[in-house]
Amino acid sequence: MAAGEYTSVASQREFALAQVDVERAEILSNARAEEAELAAMFVEKGVGEDTAREMSREIHLDPEQAVKVHAREEFGVDTDDLASPTLAAASSFVSFGLGALVPLLSYLVGIESAWPAIALSLVGLFACGAVVTRVTARTWWFGGLRQLVLGGAAAGLTYLVGEAVGASLG
Ligand SMILES: [Zn+2]
Repeated sequence: MAAGEYTSVASQREFALAQVDVERAEILSNARAEEAELAAMFVEKGVGEDTAREMSREIHLDPEQAVKVHAREEFGVDTDDLASPTLAAASSFVSFGLGALVPLLSYLVGIESAWPAIALSLVGLFACGAVVTRVTARTWWFGGLRQLVLGGAAAGLTYLVGEAVGASLG
């Protein structure tokens, strides 16, 4: 499960959201300086000083609007494009759980060898990692591979610990 959480924490979108949060805190606590900062950015783009100050003042009338504009101007983040981190974490959590259930399928249909279960769970991990990329900023194959590697490593570790504990008990 830690591997599944890692997947969501490492997503670029959450990093962007953290940046946006910092910007929001600055705008709420230091509105004057942020307004001046935005006006200066407009001036740099060729807008006349008075117009720039007026634009910035109007944008800052709505703090959420100000956050959006600062995020776009300062680090190129479009806040309307960002998925909620809760959604990303939740889908990561659910997909990891589903991935863990997949290997049970081969037992349910009566196959007793471990290999089909292992193959199935690797496919399941990849598929779930790929699905999670719908709410994170990665390509599907990257998400799939990462989930495959992290989930596979976590499962392998669980297996080895189980073996070691079993051996010491036996
Ligand atoms: Zn700013």
